[in-house]
Amino acid sequence: MCPRDSLLKKLYYSALDLLFPEEGICFICDKYDEDVKEDHICSDCKDKLLFINENRCPTCGKPNCEGNALDRCSYCANKTFYFTKAFSPLEFTGIIRKTIYKYKYESKPYIYKSFGELMLRTLERENVKDDIDIIVPVPLHRSRKAERGYNQSELLAKYLSSKLDIPMDTRNLKRIKSTKVQNKLGRTERHLNVKDAFKVKDMSFFKSKKILLVDDIFTTGATVNECSRVLMESGAREVLVITIATGRHT
Ligand SMILES: [Zn+2]
Ligand SMILES: [Zn+2]
Repeated sequence: MCPRDSLLKKLYYSALDLLFPEEGICFICDKYDEDVKEDHICSDCKDKLLFINENRCPTCGKPNCEGNALDRCSYCANKTFYFTKAFSPLEFTGIIRKTIYKYKYESKPYIYKSFGELMLRTLERENVKDDIDIIVPVPLHRSRKAERGYNQSELLAKYLSSKLDIPMDTRNLKRIKSTKVQNKLGRTERHLNVKDAFKVKDMSFFKSKKILLVDDIFTTGATVNECSRVLMESGAREVLVITIATGRHT
């Protein structure tokens, strides 16, 4: 990265910092609570969150799937994944569903601090952070990033990068197709929607690297899987995935 780019990035992130609400605010219920810590979640809200514990699929990370003793649950048993494991601190339900919506669609970029902190704790608990070479957010298409003003996955990746002291790269995994919003689509449509949507720019960049891929939600896994496919095809050693939340397999 050239010095000018890094200066621009710094200015960009400090401009976002100016928009952040005061310390002591819970980012979920927006109430003041002086006991709120760096995750910006008050104890009342924390009680309502569904944290995913050891009782989950060791591959896709979905909670309480049958066959947890095996490598794959009934949801992902017959799927081809290009990542090794996916992790999420939370179930995609209730207030988390609403808060992720606020984060993405209601111009509240600062909520990355809450989600980033929960994701960080999951990575630490799972002890998977040690040999990661690079952190890569799922990219947004230029047009959607311009419309939203920020890439929600990039803010999370940036948080993890600074806390774990692992570099982040946003220049070499690109979204080349402006895809439809995934949450309005069924399972097969989601897969087709993201097919060939991503491209690696510098084919030597990810060679032999272990990558932590960061996205907001893991539903069917179609988006992170398609990113993982192009990363692995460009020579990556391994891809791990972390998202804020994942839905139950129903
Ligand atoms: Zn709260
Ligand atoms: Zn699974």
